[in-house]
Amino acid sequence: MVDYIKSCEELKEGESVFPHVFPYRDFTPEFSAHPRINFKKAGYYCFDVGIEIDKDTFTAAKASVDVSMTGAQLIRDGKETRVFSLCRPPGHHAGYDHFGGYCIFNNAAAAAYYLSQKGNVAIVDVDFHHGNGTQGIFYEQSDVLYVSLHGNPDRSYPYFSGFADETGKKLGKGYNINIPLPAGVGDDEYRKYLNGALRKVKKYKPWAVIVSLGLDIFKGDPLSDIGVSSPFFSEIARTFCDLGIPVLGILEGGYDMADLAQNGANFIEAMAQAE
Ligand SMILES: [Zn+2]
Repeated sequence: MVDYIKSCEELKEGESVFPHVFPYRDFTPEFSAHPRINFKKAGYYCFDVGIEIDKDTFTAAKASVDVSMTGAQLIRDGKETRVFSLCRPPGHHAGYDHFGGYCIFNNAAAAAYYLSQKGNVAIVDVDFHHGNGTQGIFYEQSDVLYVSLHGNPDRSYPYFSGFADETGKKLGKGYNINIPLPAGVGDDEYRKYLNGALRKVKKYKPWAVIVSLGLDIFKGDPLSDIGVSSPFFSEIARTFCDLGIPVLGILEGGYDMADLAQNGANFIEAMAQAE
């Protein structure tokens, strides 16, 4: 998949690939990976039609992972205890061999893998959408706990994952926790769900926590149907800092263009001011 994105650097200026044909369930695997036109492989690696790839996609996606890895390195080396990696494009929908949902490479997963070399880490995903990519990557592992709060997939993207009964497999059994949220959740309710999630994190005793921050849980966001307030992003940041372990924030989604900057700043400032 990485090679494929890299090969798209050969696209011409102004040219782009839009995945729109996908191998279906019982497609003979030998055929599905090898359309003659290289760029048309997009549908093999991508699971939706939300992404356009051009010659700069690899550079942008790689830079985004670099930003998360710089954050992870500062945390791992003990140089900082709180870092926010302002990643673009986001990553939590990208798996180890597929991309989609505006995500190419999984920034949070790369950081978690790196940090897990030092001991168990937790990822708490507060984006409105389920992080199917992150879940998939660590689904059979116990050294990275994945906890996600998101719109119930019965009504929310990505529809095929994010249900409460997806709890991990093999070694990872019990280390994947999905908390599907009903529509209309505001600050008070969200706080209860988040505290419930953090109780599980505390029990796990990670040495560091990664926050996959989706600003799309904001009440004005056009892609979500829950609504926390702008000051609540400060509270979320403080809640994570209160865990008393290193915190790496990583930016995921967010689509309310008018309020994104303020909501992001609220989270980052609260992180900076935490004790
Ligand atoms: Zn999202």
